[in-house]
Amino acid sequence: MSETRHNWTKEEILDIYNKPLMELLYDAATIHRKYHDPNTVQVSTLLSIKTGGCPEDCGYCPQAARYHTDIEGNDLMSVQQVKAQALRAKSSGSSRVCMGAAWRNVKDGPEFDQVLEMVRTINKLDMEVCCTLGMITENQAKRLAEAGLYAYNHNLDTSEDYYKDVISTRAFEDRLETIDNVRKTNVTVCSGGIIGMGEKVEDRAGMLVALASLSPQPESVPVNALVAVEGTPMEDIEPVAIWEMIRMVATTRIVMPKTQVRLSAGRTEMSREGQAMCFFAGANSIFAGDKLLTTPNPDVNEDMEMFKMLGLNPQKAFVKAPQPETIEATASKIEPLGEKPKWTRPGHKIERNENAKANSKLVEKE
Ligand code: SF4
Repeated sequence: MSETRHNWTKEEILDIYNKPLMELLYDAATIHRKYHDPNTVQVSTLLSIKTGGCPEDCGYCPQAARYHTDIEGNDLMSVQQVKAQALRAKSSGSSRVCMGAAWRNVKDGPEFDQVLEMVRTINKLDMEVCCTLGMITENQAKRLAEAGLYAYNHNLDTSEDYYKDVISTRAFEDRLETIDNVRKTNVTVCSGGIIGMGEKVEDRAGMLVALASLSPQPESVPVNALVAVEGTPMEDIEPVAIWEMIRMVATTRIVMPKTQVRLSAGRTEMSREGQAMCFFAGANSIFAGDKLLTTPNPDVNEDMEMFKMLGLNPQKAFVKAPQPETIEATASKIEPLGEKPKWTRPGHKIERNENAKANSKLVEKE
């Protein structure tokens, strides 16, 4: 029951997801103990290095320029700002920094060069560096690897079927292509999704089929609960029940036994008891800091109190894979190719996305 399999079917995953809860928890916790230290949880810090103004139409995201939300946009942060925040994160127990930029895809040029310098700087602080920058080419993935990137995040978000009801500006296959480009380097893959977006349980299973069938499976899978933000197309969706989160974490743990399962957005809605059950079910990472990109997150001191209460220890950096080497920009052997790949734009109409866009125009006129 515990070796890594890449041929899970949706039906098998649904059978696991729908098991009586105590049985599901027992199975997931048994597998978790085989591959991971059950008393260790990684604390990661998510930094929004470029916020807002994104051209995509992801129905859950307050950073999409087309929706009217309260978030404050900012241009790309400086390397010094990022270094200061990384040092602060390290001193409060984080072993990983994930930098997010609200871009559709990476473009070669001064901004990407600045991100590469951020990667070098954080890797030299002996922290795991992860980036989430949108779609990337193989050449860009290689340049990130050369700078010392430890992980690249590119979420599948949901099942291929439901994806079409969430995003119309990019295609599910392009997500897979970016993951494939990352896999041509030694950078590890972080890819997961969001539950509570109005999808069916079958879609959650479908997403897990897609992730588990990647070979190798992603080293890291974030499981997010939707945080419904006013002004986004999903603003009226009720928060997902904690039981669903626990089931999703446990099922993820069973189908991807060696993966780091990350309890991500939506923790402010969860009690400590609920989070403890997620850790028991196999979650072994949280994001720290009072903001998760743009949505609220528990304060780091509250998390440390919870760790103390549960007897959990923060995971050290590079426990799961060795620290990458950093090659300085001056010694780089990989030239930017200045490619302009034609990432797909399906362009179909999603009613709730169209409505949110129309409402945003009305608000701006007022
Ligand atoms: S999720 Fe990412 S790509 Fe989608 S709108 Fe938000 S910032 Fe842009």
